[in-house]
Amino acid sequence: MSSRILPQFALLTPQSISEAVDMLAQYQGQVSVLAGGTDLLVWNYIRKVKPTYVLRLSALDDLDYMNYIPGEGLRIGARAKVAQLLEQPEVAGKFPALYESALTFATPQIRNMATVMGNVLRASPAGDCSCAILALGGQVVLQGPDGQRLVDIDDFWISYGVTARKNDELAVELRIPEPTSITRSAFYRLTRVHEDLAKLNVAVRFEMCQNGCRSARISMGCVGPTPLRLKQTEKLLEGVPVTDELLQQVAAAARKEIAPIADQRSTEEYRRQVSGVILTRVIERAAGTHRIAI
Ligand SMILES: Cc1cc2nc3c(=O)[nH]c(=O)nc-3n(C[C@H](O)[C@H](O)[C@H](O)COP(=O)(O)OP(=O)(O)OC[C@H]3O[C@@H](n4cnc5c(N)ncnc54)[C@H](O)[C@@H]3O)c2cc1C
Repeated sequence: MSSRILPQFALLTPQSISEAVDMLAQYQGQVSVLAGGTDLLVWNYIRKVKPTYVLRLSALDDLDYMNYIPGEGLRIGARAKVAQLLEQPEVAGKFPALYESALTFATPQIRNMATVMGNVLRASPAGDCSCAILALGGQVVLQGPDGQRLVDIDDFWISYGVTARKNDELAVELRIPEPTSITRSAFYRLTRVHEDLAKLNVAVRFEMCQNGCRSARISMGCVGPTPLRLKQTEKLLEGVPVTDELLQQVAAAARKEIAPIADQRSTEEYRRQVSGVILTRVIERAAGTHRIAI
């Protein structure tokens, strides 16, 4: 008979960030950090990770924040929930891709438990906030025994489930840079049902100019082992007007740049085909040439 009982672990409850870092150093490699638990405590996942210790962040109230700092951007503490992205007024106006990723994220119950940081640290290719953050650009602040270090989001995901975080480091903050007056962004995801993980997600960030787009960042999820930046495809958009012909070239380039797999949510062929379609629609929306309601 199959059983869904969680494996046994010892629970650590540090009262400060420095105590958390000390504990991570002391039990290096045997500890999993618990934020909202919506990934970690899912039976399949914790059974695979089998931590000896689980270090919960529940007493670290000083990591609950989500602050917009004019001129600097968005600062998201490690305990800030996905739901907070929908409550912070500047997120919808200045970081639409991130707002839209939260809007379509699971259910209100999950959004109220899941943290934005947990989404990034899970290092899943399907992470919705992760996809948006990769397009927007940003940094992860890691606190270790020797102090803090900042890792660019472009360098943060190493492979499926693996990040640049060291075992004795706690991820404490996400930093998303301030957009300028010419920045545009958008996000979209395809799912089987709303509560499910994405079949495919896409986010873009553009700096617009008179000719169209001055510079572009495109990210796509569920098309490789980690959220992926489509750097070759981005180049096609730079400095030229967004025309139907260009969008066709962009869709074809994206299909070549991704490496999707088949799984229970989609076939490889479907993902490759639909990636170009979804990407062009998101580009049209962000660039203001939107024609089709999606
Ligand atoms: C029913 C359901 C629906 C879901 N729907 C979606 C969805 O629509 N879109 C989506 O993207 N995801 C979805 N998820 C996945 C999950 O909710 C997200 O990935 C969520 O953001 C994880 O955050 P958490 O706070 O729950 O992380 P946790 O489960 O607590 O942690 C996730 C991972 O990150 C590590 N971690 C967390 N915080 C830190 C830290 N500060 N420092 C170091 N390591 C850390 C943990 O050790 C663990 O490995 C869903 C999950 C469920 C159960």
